Amino acid sequence: MRLEAVELRRVALPLVTPFRTSRGVHTERQALVVRVLTDSGDGWGECVAEPEPSYSPEFLDGALLVLERHLLPLLFAAGAAGGLTAAGVAPALAAVKGHPMAKCALEMAVLDAELRSEGRSFAERLGAVRSEVDCGVAVGITPTVDALVEQVAAYVDAGYRRVKLKIEPGADVDRVRAVRERFPELDLQVDANGAYRVEDIPHLAELDAFGLLLVEQPLPDDDFDGHAAVAAALRTPVCLDETITSARVAAHAIAVGACSVVNVKAGRVGGYLEAVRVHDVCRAAGVPVWCGGMLETGLGRAANLALAALPGFTLPGDLSASDRYYRPDLTEPLVMRGGRMRVPTGPGLGVAPVDEHLEAMTVWVRLARPG
Ligand code: MG
Repeated sequence: MRLEAVELRRVALPLVTPFRTSRGVHTERQALVVRVLTDSGDGWGECVAEPEPSYSPEFLDGALLVLERHLLPLLFAAGAAGGLTAAGVAPALAAVKGHPMAKCALEMAVLDAELRSEGRSFAERLGAVRSEVDCGVAVGITPTVDALVEQVAAYVDAGYRRVKLKIEPGADVDRVRAVRERFPELDLQVDANGAYRVEDIPHLAELDAFGLLLVEQPLPDDDFDGHAAVAAALRTPVCLDETITSARVAAHAIAVGACSVVNVKAGRVGGYLEAVRVHDVCRAAGVPVWCGGMLETGLGRAANLALAALPGFTLPGDLSASDRYYRPDLTEPLVMRGGRMRVPTGPGLGVAPVDEHLEAMTVWVRLARPG
């Protein structure tokens, strides 16, 4: 393909339920939507970086800067004369270190354009073996325990097959106990986003009483030895999220006993093609994986559904229906039925922005061309 231009678009989507993080309460999702314009047609991508660098060092304004100043010139150098492929995007951008979410957005858009022109779906290209996937939901830290139990009850009623609770020091064991007492049979797991330290292992071991599927990222990203110590001390399986930045890191984490489950997020590892390689490494090692979520719009949600249909994704992901977050979504809504969502089968992502929604949600648009 020949790359003719890249459109960068800042969008703002009102959130159905405000999402609380350590940096405050978010009532809308700001995102960066990427459209590549090629001689074979357009493709759509999404940068999942958050407004603040609190999940990882990447953040939205930084991603924009690195895209415009560093990544787009490299992509144009690789693709302006033709010969651009999705598989060639990561090598073309490798001179820039880090910034996996910005890189993922570009690769996703090029992959969408490539697959649309070939009439193939993301699911087919990534190696999906299922036509629908189980849905789980992530619940943030609510102001009170009662509010948490109430929110979980609403998601259970809606049909979600697994619930993940965010935890942090001071908001953990009592909350998990309250939810477990109300829902003795629920598939339940917790995510600490690195909020604990090795010294907290005896406290974390109290979570073993609740029959959790896993505890996700209890310690900071770079603490392989610490996670191995947690894994040795707890019966609850340890899952890593932030730590796993590539297939190579996944292989290392498994080899040193730092985890026995992996959360796969394409944005965190630089693209959907690397996400498949993470899956492959884990599957070969007998380590189950599941698909994480970053409050994606329908674009990223559709790609995640394709990824989660690969054979090693044996646990329900943070794959929620569009209306868990957005009414309306940027695309036609992706809906859940009986606790499952269908994997899109149309060319490329199988979804595209609805013009009217895209216009209404756009904060600004910029068009970049080669040279
Ligand atoms: Mg996580």
